Amino acid sequence: MNVSNDILIDIAGDRSFSALLLTWYAAEKRDLPWRTTGDPYSIWVSEVMLQQTQVKTVIPYYERFLQLFPGIEQLGTASLEEVLTVWRGLGYYSRARRMWEGARYLLDQRGGKMPTDYEALLLVPGIGKYTAGAIASIAFEQRVAAIDGNVLRVVSRLLAWSEPVETARSYRHFNAHLLAWQPTLRPGDFNQALMELGALVCTPTKPDCESCPVTQACEGYLQGEVHLYPIKKLKVKRQVVTRLTFVLRRGELVFLQRRPSQGLLADLWEFPGVELSQEEGLDDSLPMLTDGEWFELFQKAVPERALDGRMREQFGQGLPLHGPVWYTFSHRRWKICWVIVDFPELLENKMMGVSSLKEAGGTYRLDSSKDHLLVDNKCWVALHDLTGIPLPVAFKAIVEDLRAK
Ligand code: SF4
Repeated sequence: MNVSNDILIDIAGDRSFSALLLTWYAAEKRDLPWRTTGDPYSIWVSEVMLQQTQVKTVIPYYERFLQLFPGIEQLGTASLEEVLTVWRGLGYYSRARRMWEGARYLLDQRGGKMPTDYEALLLVPGIGKYTAGAIASIAFEQRVAAIDGNVLRVVSRLLAWSEPVETARSYRHFNAHLLAWQPTLRPGDFNQALMELGALVCTPTKPDCESCPVTQACEGYLQGEVHLYPIKKLKVKRQVVTRLTFVLRRGELVFLQRRPSQGLLADLWEFPGVELSQEEGLDDSLPMLTDGEWFELFQKAVPERALDGRMREQFGQGLPLHGPVWYTFSHRRWKICWVIVDFPELLENKMMGVSSLKEAGGTYRLDSSKDHLLVDNKCWVALHDLTGIPLPVAFKAIVEDLRAK
């Protein structure tokens, strides 16, 4: 959405903070696909994707997502797996799941229409204060703030705010200031201008104060202490855990199971495995485990007991350990090690832990390959079909290892 001429005429000669910011925004803002639309759904998609992800990464995902799911109806009637598959590679999959839940809520409760008001937007699953503020102000011109990490940083410098920015008190304080600064005309432009300032000028590590349009309104700058802000709480160290992974292979097929709907990588598919925290003392001793210990770990990883017989045999013969490769989440690092267990190709389904072949029941669609069987959140799937499955990027090295063999 463009900064309108109305607003530029309105602020001509005005040296207030918002006028300076909006004049700069009109001249310097980047052309981004979501800035040419006033469609609340498209704005929602862009805002969710932009959380914790860079603009250049988001653009192709945004365009593809809108091609496949151009509106609330298409998103809400798609399967979760379809949505997660399109999201694959963008990370933080819970964002996609929550947006999908939000679309279903809108279809069920609101006739497939996006609410036009901030408070009502907050009732939609997956829409928090920031996203509600962005949609309400940009699409519906409501005067509300949209406060994300970028905005917290910029405002903390503008106000030389000497408290940690992540607290509720800081949020309330910033919100009050933003509402006071926000113009009546085009409040969404003001919010976007502040975000753009944070992205292009008032960046996290090297704010370019010399080219900043609002230096005269910036307390941090005027006090010569920009480097002090934002004040942050002490960071929690990332927990490192070993993720022991069992790759069960049957010719071209590999065994996957779906992760629980809560927690890390919720609802995605995985090669089964267990997390071993360093306190359990197993990290460096994996190669020394007895057959019985291997078997116990396998039982923790795979609730399906029909595979036990074959696994016992395999552990008895010894299995080479592959890896490690590392994968980093926001609060955790996985050190991924894996073993590959080969099963005879012609075992009966029953022995493979698949007691009956069931159609995906509308929740999961693979391509036309007949190789896969999907039952109760478990499946055997051909290696060449893995690209069509929401399998976390964390397992990329394992897939490459399998393809190379
Ligand atoms: S003057 Fe510097 S610290 Fe202040 S808003 Fe501009 S870039 Fe950020």
